[in-house]
Amino acid sequence: MKFTDFNLKPEIQAAVDEAGFKEPSPVQKDAIPLVLEGHDLIAQAQTGTGKTAAFGLPIMSMMKGDGSVEGLVIVPTRELAMQVSDELFRFGKSAGLKTATVYGGTAYGKQIERIKQASIVVATPGRLQDLLQSGKIKINPHFIVLDEADEMLDMGFLDEIKNIFTFLPKERQTLMFSATMPNAIRKLAEQILKNPKTVSITKSETTNTNITQFYYVVQERERDDALVRLIDYKNPQKCIIFCRMKKEVDRLVAHMTAQGFKVSGLHGDMEQKQREVTIRAFKQGGIDIFIATDVAARGLDVNDVTHVFNYHIPFDSESYVHRIGRTGRGGKSGEAITLVSPNELRTIKRIEKDVGTKMTTQVIPTRMEVQNNRNDALITKIAETQITDKAIELVKTLQHDLDIVTIAHLLASMVQNEISVKGKDNIGLGLEEIELLIERAMQNRGGGGGGRNRGRGNYRGGNRRRNSNSGGERNGRHGRNGRNSRNGGGRS
Ligand code: ADP
Ligand code: MG
Repeated sequence: MKFTDFNLKPEIQAAVDEAGFKEPSPVQKDAIPLVLEGHDLIAQAQTGTGKTAAFGLPIMSMMKGDGSVEGLVIVPTRELAMQVSDELFRFGKSAGLKTATVYGGTAYGKQIERIKQASIVVATPGRLQDLLQSGKIKINPHFIVLDEADEMLDMGFLDEIKNIFTFLPKERQTLMFSATMPNAIRKLAEQILKNPKTVSITKSETTNTNITQFYYVVQERERDDALVRLIDYKNPQKCIIFCRMKKEVDRLVAHMTAQGFKVSGLHGDMEQKQREVTIRAFKQGGIDIFIATDVAARGLDVNDVTHVFNYHIPFDSESYVHRIGRTGRGGKSGEAITLVSPNELRTIKRIEKDVGTKMTTQVIPTRMEVQNNRNDALITKIAETQITDKAIELVKTLQHDLDIVTIAHLLASMVQNEISVKGKDNIGLGLEEIELLIERAMQNRGGGGGGRNRGRGNYRGGNRRRNSNSGGERNGRHGRNGRNSRNGGGRS
């Protein structure tokens, strides 16, 4: 199936081509024809599956462009408002459809001016309600979209949304998009949608299959070391680390910065300006690592996020889906990595069941494995590097014949720029230990006081079966008695 099969307005189709979209995503395939036929719609699909275009393209294709506000998109957060607005602007530009972005925390004047010129308003519930209730704006949009409806309800916007609808025309086409469909969403849908069609990208498809999911079992106090080791090992281009609390974000930012990483925190308490600057820096590559709370990272659409780390497992499955949906976007592949303590294994199992996917458990790589990985990467880089005349000249000036020692010298000089992998050798639990723990956790399920055997001593000494084949010597467990020697030496 191609986008041209939808018979969108030529200007809109041109924008699709310009955006480089080749094939419609599953939710787009299902939703676009239904919207074009004029149906109300309730659509469930995971984040990163192209919901913005799924509603944006068909409604824009049907707009008259008469200068009135024809479409209203309600989204949970300011970041999302800006993102969705950007994407819709891109689609509507050649068709002459302007967008206005409306959110709290800024002056009314400019926003009201923009709304007067816009065909589409993208708004957060609070500010939109303000504007409508105070009579500062009067709009009659025919197309109304609730984007990330589950998030809006989670954030407590139900009353605002209901109130907003009292100001909207009865004759309208209403579309509701959500990553998950809890009961509260269905109930809301019954109230605001008319004979809606349903699009649900089924469970296995809902979990974006481009995302490979791993979890690692570590003791509580090993989290920081585990995180640093895994980042050293995976070497992500861009990653987001999720924490549960702001406090944790701040602490980790300090810790990771001391380790020489380019990190920045993102949480709800930040000044809006600062958030925008930070997000831009992350998008443009000035920052490689974002450390964020769930709320702060809602809907964040940054391309090229290669890895999502859950420093702590989220409390509920829906947050998990939202978090990992920050990677694997736009058809790219991504990895989701979760750190759990032995006590949290049950939560992992529950999330696996709710989400309908299998996560793979792995053992945290040893220093040696990280080092080997890097050496491999270096060798690959060398093998792929073009030999230049300049390089040949340089080699000729060397005193020695080109023996193995010279080559080793050259390599060593390159390796020096890399940091050496620090920290204790074995972090976290081995596979056998994990399997045993899972078994026990599942057995103890529901039984009160089942945690009796959780003392850490019980599970020591199992073999760490590894999936890596790096031969090198392994320090075994005695490495554990030394204090962690990482002391914040600089990277780079
Ligand atoms: P969602 O709202 O479902 O989380 P978005 O609408 O934000 O997802 O889309 C995620 C990313 O995928 C965006 O960068 C968007 O431009 C891109 N995208 C959407 N549809 C397509 C498509 N058909 N082909 C390629 N990229 C797409
Ligand atoms: Mg979206």
